[in-house]
Amino acid sequence: MEQTFIILKPSTISRSLVGDVLMRFQRKGLRIAGIKMMRLNEEILREHYAHLVDRPFFPTLLKSMMATPVIVAVLAGKEAVAVVRALTGATNCRVAAPGTIRGDFGMSGQENIIHASDSVENAAIEVARFFKPEEIFDYELPTVASIYAPDER
Ligand code: UDP
Ligand code: MG
Repeated sequence: MEQTFIILKPSTISRSLVGDVLMRFQRKGLRIAGIKMMRLNEEILREHYAHLVDRPFFPTLLKSMMATPVIVAVLAGKEAVAVVRALTGATNCRVAAPGTIRGDFGMSGQENIIHASDSVENAAIEVARFFKPEEIFDYELPTVASIYAPDER
């Protein structure tokens, strides 16, 4: 099954929304393949947000992502990258559709609750950046037959 990578950002930790956000993914039928708390530093954030280092908001983004420890996780499921991006919603919480995580839980473009990988290629890079192979667990949910038809597994 496809894997994707998420970060529950400091906005989620600070606002005690960890359970609410993880519940969205679990209710959907995604499997948690890896999960841990860690503190992000400038080095890993410059890699992770390499596409944004020259943007004027990068210094505040850095500070925001280091404000508290974060929770990083690997979610697995059929087309997990696209499914998780859809559940996440648009970058700016104020315009994110109601029903999405950002649409339901946030008011900010920067303090936007969650990071989610934007492509299968980037998901593989991000999983490898934040997790050791032994921190990813290959097991099957006992409910898998109720989540997928046989030809979808
Ligand atoms: N961001 C910001 N201002 C912007 C665009 C992005 O503060 O104008 C922050 C925001 O926290 C966002 C992150 O930078 O989640 C990464 O930006 P990206 O464009 O990759 O958005 P995402 O993939 O998170 O929706
Ligand atoms: Mg992005």
